[in-house]
Amino acid sequence: SNFTSPPLEAHLLSNIELARYSTPTPVQKFSIPIVSNGRDLMACAQTGSGKTGGFLFPILSELFKHGPSPPPPEQPGYTRGMSRSRKAYPVGLILAPTRELASQIYDEARKFAYRSWVRPCVVYGGADISGQLRQIDRGCDLLTATPGRLVDLIERGRVSLCQTRYLVLDEADRMLDMGFEPQIRRIVEQEDMPGVGDRQTLMFSATFPRDIQILARDFLKDYVFLSV
Ligand code: AMP
Repeated sequence: SNFTSPPLEAHLLSNIELARYSTPTPVQKFSIPIVSNGRDLMACAQTGSGKTGGFLFPILSELFKHGPSPPPPEQPGYTRGMSRSRKAYPVGLILAPTRELASQIYDEARKFAYRSWVRPCVVYGGADISGQLRQIDRGCDLLTATPGRLVDLIERGRVSLCQTRYLVLDEADRMLDMGFEPQIRRIVEQEDMPGVGDRQTLMFSATFPRDIQILARDFLKDYVFLSV
């Protein structure tokens, strides 16, 4: 089978073709219809399974089908020096444990959002924040972030999650192992973040221990459990 049942949006299909992916991997084959049907997902999948496409493909397909949402409510906008700082209102947010994984997801997002209105962005800790702020100034629809740096940007008033309709927790077990649970809860429980049921949430994890089950109970609604 290829990527056409159920059909992904045409522009996404052409970008998938440019990447020379001919056949969905098992996790992609199962996740695409689940996510396209609007369901929350808990997927147990390893690195190398194609899990990145497993969440990027259905999310980008839905975004391309529906087009950009109306601009967010007017923001006060402030200036520092000559440049006007903008705030990011990502429609999709992907949380990842490390700079390396976040960068890989961002590279894939750029590949598959190519020549579309969707502007991918990436932010992570341990790197100078000024380049990341400039990237945000240029616009951000699909944000990949490590949890600590995202909390920092939210506190600086540079990222708002009020428009976020897709939330992905990638390698959730690794994020918990690294002690990110407080930051993750802080992000997901933001006052302006659409709640469970008003957003779609996808969790990916190699393992499904008790602490991940609790996170799934708290963040997902009537989720489909997928193990590949
Ligand atoms: P991931 O598990 O998402 O890190 O993907 C592992 C590797 O497989 C990455 O290098 C992807 O670019 C590649 N990949 C993912 N999906 C496909 C596919 N459907 N066809 C060919 N390569 C793929």
